[in-house]
Amino acid sequence: MESLDRSTIWPYDERGEPREFYYSRYASPTVAEAERALGALEGGEALLFPSGTGAATALVLSLLGPGDTIALAAGAYFGTAVTFQTLAKWGLHYVEFDQTGPPPDGVQLVWLEAPSNPFLTMPDLEAAVAHPAPVVVDSTVSTPVYLRPLEHGADFALHSVTKYLGGHDDALLGAVAGRDLAELHTFRTRTGISPAPDPAWLLLRGLKTLDARVRRQTETAQTIAHRLAEHPKVVSVRYPGLSGLMSFDVADGDAARTVETSTELIANATSLGGVTSVMESRHRWEGDRVPAGLLRLSVGLEPADAIWADLAQALNKV
Ligand code: PLP
Repeated sequence: MESLDRSTIWPYDERGEPREFYYSRYASPTVAEAERALGALEGGEALLFPSGTGAATALVLSLLGPGDTIALAAGAYFGTAVTFQTLAKWGLHYVEFDQTGPPPDGVQLVWLEAPSNPFLTMPDLEAAVAHPAPVVVDSTVSTPVYLRPLEHGADFALHSVTKYLGGHDDALLGAVAGRDLAELHTFRTRTGISPAPDPAWLLLRGLKTLDARVRRQTETAQTIAHRLAEHPKVVSVRYPGLSGLMSFDVADGDAARTVETSTELIANATSLGGVTSVMESRHRWEGDRVPAGLLRLSVGLEPADAIWADLAQALNKV
């Protein structure tokens, strides 16, 4: 078992020189071990941050300056656009584009999401890496089990570790993977966006079962997506595979509210990627950006028949 080292300081060596670890804002053993494990999975290096959002903020602030523009995949995680809007007062701009085609000219960073949450579109990675700007792929939803963006020529992969990599809804954490993260590491130390050891230890635990969890969730999600598509109360289903995440539409906002509050096994809660199934209407957070009847479902590790029975009884209340 990996040890959890909560120290913030480690003694200098006998000559009075700092060893590898001396103050935890710079680096710490449990975090470094989790970073090595995730880097190996992504085919590069990895750095952890206190949340996925913290990872995104650190990455754009370290790469870009005032007057720069990010091309952001339309329909990507709502909070990423909110983060970029928040940075506007420092002169950072973003434009949205359809990630199934090439990014627009004249941008200094391309930001993709594979697949996007909650619209589940997949980016055209080939078109994006042909663009002169660096490319970030938020691969929170596909995980390295199904997608290793660096192998496709992307410059950075980004994760909300809070989701599948942690996998148990008990660790808030983010990560960036890349080929050479020395500058980002310095930026992290100097701005203090440094991760704590406890969630890093939970990441190490989560990685042990990542492959088994994600493959089982994908298999279950395939079954659920097929059954949903045949249900008379379901208008459409978005499910590209690649994880346990899907979204589907019922008639309207009232129907969505009825379904999400009628499940018993599936928790009516936000987030995704944990061992427990969760479902929510995204309209409450994203407003008219999503259809009022859209429900996002993150399939957990419960038996497929139990998840389906719960969904079916909730849909029959509409
Ligand atoms: N990226 C995606 C695809 C997400 O779904 C989320 C969170 O929902 C984030 C990034 C942000 O991560 P965090 O909540 O860990 O800050």
